[in-house]
Amino acid sequence: MIYPIVIYGSPMLRNVSEPITADYPGLPQLIKDMFDTMHASDGVGLAAPQIGKSIRLFVIDARPWADEDPRLADFTKAFINPEIYERFGDEELFNEGCLSVPGIHEDVSRPTKVKIRYLDENFVEHDEEYDGYAARVIQHEYDHLEGKMFVDRLSPLRRTLLKSKLAAMSKGRYKADYKTKLVK
Ligand SMILES: [Zn+2]
Repeated sequence: MIYPIVIYGSPMLRNVSEPITADYPGLPQLIKDMFDTMHASDGVGLAAPQIGKSIRLFVIDARPWADEDPRLADFTKAFINPEIYERFGDEELFNEGCLSVPGIHEDVSRPTKVKIRYLDENFVEHDEEYDGYAARVIQHEYDHLEGKMFVDRLSPLRRTLLKSKLAAMSKGRYKADYKTKLVK
């Protein structure tokens, strides 16, 4: 099933999401649906709040970036109850977008490396270190679980310049070529 993507301005995107247990109803199907939804909208990452579920789960398929970073050739993963416990390395700018903020791409500064503990779709625990594109998308998706969006991380000037566009988006004036919904 392809879910509609919840759009900026929907209050649920601002919730801090809750951890889940292995008996969360329909979890394998939900994870599959999240991958399908992400692929249908050409995203590389999707967090559960973006389909209206305030739970600590996101999926990433970074394989489209394998040309730039061969380590991503098989990077397709679900992250359950993740905890980024260390961010390090230099701060770097990278042009980010978000399926919940269609039509807006902005340079966002983030540390280049993270250490993260998480459970995979079989509830097996992992403790891993990532850099580059992987660290970037992990931090972006993790933000969604905390109720944060990449536009919160822009400079005050960039935020001011985007203010009217974001206000319009939260009133339903935006274009996206995938299924979306505003939930007030
Ligand atoms: Zn996003």
